[in-house]
Amino acid sequence: MGDTFDVIVIGGGHAGCEAATASARFGAKTALLTHRLDTIGVMSCNPAIGGLGKGHLVREIDALDGIMGRVIDKSGIQFRMLNASKGPAVRGPRAQADRKLYRLEMQRILAEYPNLTLLEGGAEDLIIKDGAVTGVLSGDGKTYKARAVVITTGTFLRGLIHRGTEKIPAGRVGENPAIGLALTLEKLGFPLGRLKTGTPARLDGRTIDWSALEMQKADDVPVPFSYLTDKITVPQIECGITYTTPKTHDIIRANLHRAPMYSGQIAGTGPRYCPSIEDKVVRFADKERHQIFLEPEGLDDPTIYPNGISNALPIEVQAELLASIPGLEKAKVNEWAYAIEYDYCDPRDLTQTLESKRLSGLFLAGQINGTTGYEEAAAQGLMAGLNAAILAGAVSRETTTPFILDRSEAYIGVLIDDLISRGAPEPYRMFTSRAEYRLTLRADNADQRLTDKAIEQGFASSERTQTWDTKKQALATAQTLMRYTLNGTPNELAKHGLAVNMDGRRRNAFDLLSYPDIGWNELETIWPEILIISPPIREQVEIDSLYAGYTDRQQIDIDAFRKEESMTLPADLDYGDIGTLSTEIRQKLEKIRPATLGAASRIPGVTPAAVISLLRHVKRRKAA
Ligand code: FAD
Repeated sequence: MGDTFDVIVIGGGHAGCEAATASARFGAKTALLTHRLDTIGVMSCNPAIGGLGKGHLVREIDALDGIMGRVIDKSGIQFRMLNASKGPAVRGPRAQADRKLYRLEMQRILAEYPNLTLLEGGAEDLIIKDGAVTGVLSGDGKTYKARAVVITTGTFLRGLIHRGTEKIPAGRVGENPAIGLALTLEKLGFPLGRLKTGTPARLDGRTIDWSALEMQKADDVPVPFSYLTDKITVPQIECGITYTTPKTHDIIRANLHRAPMYSGQIAGTGPRYCPSIEDKVVRFADKERHQIFLEPEGLDDPTIYPNGISNALPIEVQAELLASIPGLEKAKVNEWAYAIEYDYCDPRDLTQTLESKRLSGLFLAGQINGTTGYEEAAAQGLMAGLNAAILAGAVSRETTTPFILDRSEAYIGVLIDDLISRGAPEPYRMFTSRAEYRLTLRADNADQRLTDKAIEQGFASSERTQTWDTKKQALATAQTLMRYTLNGTPNELAKHGLAVNMDGRRRNAFDLLSYPDIGWNELETIWPEILIISPPIREQVEIDSLYAGYTDRQQIDIDAFRKEESMTLPADLDYGDIGTLSTEIRQKLEKIRPATLGAASRIPGVTPAAVISLLRHVKRRKAA
């Protein structure tokens, strides 16, 4: 017999670490049960965090006092702001990690986390009573009781590695798959499917000919992910860049029949936006070369991750392929590339809190929901962990309302809404283009959007609360000063050499900052009062000023969206009563049971006419 907890999280990957800490932070007595404590925080594939859309998720996790941002700030060895030359809304913070430092920092934080117990072992089965989960049975026969359970098993459910014709049951290389839990979910009728992902070979950097390669440096001033980090102190390194050659492509084409994706050996769908090199050569047949980043895996580790050539070809073909790439002709391979196929659960079976619709108290988060990537996993983990703690009634405060973010508030809201209303027919990855309100949902303003919610709900630490309160105060002071006290007439501005077309009207300093040829220097000469505004606050005010016109307009769209979202659909709604719905639409609505009218409208195939019928029906029902 094991212990009793409020919440048990199964799996110590990226979703599991955020879920466990979020639940514990909310005051729930939490256990993290994972195969091996020394693999907590392991990066299964690419040693990097962030990127376009993904970096936004990390900032949001951090704004909600999650841990991923702080961990990468302590372990990042090449920070780069992607799209730095474009507008702030589409800039993506990214950092390559020292794999070992990342894992150890994650383990250090978890080991010290209040309310959190770390348990080593495999979860084999769920304990269920009266349609609700009440605990977990581990592989060594122990039972752990809990009011809520979060499953975050990543690629481990019936994981199967493929390399040529070779097939090895594994959750990732060298680790056993999770079979028992997959059978449990199958037995309970969970809608399981198969997806696939892949990883490239790992190379010994000492055997690469770097002299032939372009090098890419880190940003001169690395920008941290976490709002709590002042400065990055980890040494920064360079990456190498090389390319595939026509010979590489010939080798791949000649051996496609030996690639498990093409020979029919893999049935699962692979990630469209992170394709294997076999896929790239087939899908982009006219491209003469594909870029490969050679990313060091650590400061004291010679291993190199060749980003861009994941594949599942037989070893002898992989060797030929690598030898055809400039710089890698003599590269020694530490670990060969492979693909992995695993069970995932159709996320349309989940509610907005990521709780299962078929088993009360059971939450699913991460790759098990059909996503790909550490950041997508962590974001779901945080939301599932918080809501599991709320459901378990463990929260010491008065909170019983689920914690939900909508599409207009956060990329996290976009991610969860996409998953539960559209499912994941292929591995789901976040992009800025998925967010309708991306001018408002910027990576720079995640704290302005979300940290007050964390504080109000009672799951922000005192350090987070103090840091945000200080910044919020400074921002408010700067905004008040610039918007309401510092106004200039055209004549006054002209005296300082600023010829601004203002239709004879006054303009405040905040508005003027958005003009392309007016900066802080010009404004300071007119209004020395602004000299008190500190550099980080200036940067934020400048971005806010740049976007003010657009965000005001976007607010109208957001208001219309919220109106639809506020129309909740009763859980017991009988869609058969709405005669105007086609059979196909009725079946979709019955299957997904969207929580709101807005969510119904986003289900693929649900027409605007069907949404209007639904709206009328619900209004009539409410009025009756
Ligand atoms: P994971 O990080 O996989 O963590 C799962 C955890 O659960 C592990 O700690 C495991 O030990 C534990 N666990 C599993 N079952 C049990 C059980 N029954 N009992 C107890 N503990 C259990 N992502 C990309 O974005 N791009 C890529 O190109 C890419 N390629 C990949 C290639 C490979 C070969 C693999 C394996 C993954 C790849 N990924 C890629 C995916 C990336 O690793 C995942 O998106 C991310 O790790 C998912 O996080 P997670 O927390 O859901 O699961």
